[in-house]
Amino acid sequence: MDLAQARALDAADPLAAMRERFALPAGVIYLDGNSLGALPRATPAALADAAGRQWGERLIRSWNEGWIDAPRRLGAKIAPLIGAAADEVIVGDSTSANLYKLIVAALRLDPTRTEVVSEAGNFPTDLHIAEGAVACVPSGTLHIVPRADLAGAIGKRTALLLLTHVHYKTAERFDMVALTHAAHDAGALVLWDLSHSVGAVPIDLDGCDADLAVGCGYKYLNGGPGAPAFLYVARRWQERLANPLSGWMGHAAPFAFEDGYRPAPGMTRWLSGTPAILGLAALETALDLWSDVDRAALWAKSAALFAILAAAGDAAGLPCVSPRDPAHRGSHISFRHPDAYALTQALIARGVIGDFRDPDILRLGLTPLYLSHEDVWRAGETLREVIATEVWRDPAFAERRPVT
Ligand SMILES: *Cc1c(COP(=O)(O)O)cnc(C)c1O
Repeated sequence: MDLAQARALDAADPLAAMRERFALPAGVIYLDGNSLGALPRATPAALADAAGRQWGERLIRSWNEGWIDAPRRLGAKIAPLIGAAADEVIVGDSTSANLYKLIVAALRLDPTRTEVVSEAGNFPTDLHIAEGAVACVPSGTLHIVPRADLAGAIGKRTALLLLTHVHYKTAERFDMVALTHAAHDAGALVLWDLSHSVGAVPIDLDGCDADLAVGCGYKYLNGGPGAPAFLYVARRWQERLANPLSGWMGHAAPFAFEDGYRPAPGMTRWLSGTPAILGLAALETALDLWSDVDRAALWAKSAALFAILAAAGDAAGLPCVSPRDPAHRGSHISFRHPDAYALTQALIARGVIGDFRDPDILRLGLTPLYLSHEDVWRAGETLREVIATEVWRDPAFAERRPVT
């Protein structure tokens, strides 16, 4: 690949116009959209409207002018990205809080099944929340096993298989159909964390008979820092599972102000407290971009961007820990390097923003909505230069900050 070839790919890219819908700073190649998605150009005005007009002028009247329906309305906008029906998804709270609600709910379904099975090295909050959730039921246990042993670890005491679809470090992607069926064959439910896959790879929850899912709003969905997350419950479970965070927004009649809790029908019961309207406003603006996106072109572009950086990494002699086959991968590429932290900082100093994942991973996110092939080619050239010149050895690049 050379610059002319990268530019030719950009000239033929059906998604090229989407880049103009994002506000990207000059001089930066942003390869961290899998951690914090970029700012859509429409978002500042939408936030100004939410604050200035909806809050400032309409005040409490805004609850009946669109606010109260926002969690369901945004859920319906996420549904097509995850292969769900509009009434199987709701938006609110964080991914961590939604994990807690669904893990405890699954554990309470059948008292003979008290175990959650998950992967060693899963995203930390998933395991931390599972640890807290199993402590909420009598004899609840968390069984953490290596990836290769998962299917065999699901047994007659397993209530739930908890997996992250695309691994945050390596970008390995589980076979959702096979593992969902493995859980069902053992009589267990499956909960998919889609944080690193929604907006990055094709997902068909209904098509593979998944039970439960959660996912993040601020990564490939570009909802902004700490954006509300989403939660999916297959229709067949919606009336059978109970939300342990049984708050008034999930009540059948919140404004009847009853002492006792009666869950709302459908997905509304998965709400807890008052929705975070400003965060929802930013996320909704970002979700509206997806109606103009050819998703098949998006998945194909992700693979093309990966190939460019994989070639640059090979040329620099960096071991790639991400699968080469796009069907088994998400939309980022990770390289192993003993001084990956300093390497990441040296790249950032040259305007190529990726991130570091402890202990030795340089992680570069490939967001096809707003990256061009030329951007990624230039990032690859910078990577080769930083490795060849060893500028990462500068002690200034070794100083650790709280967020890596
Ligand atoms: C980003 C991410 C989260 C984030 O959880 P928060 O509650 O938003 O902090 C959770 N799980 C996975 C797999 C993630 O990639």
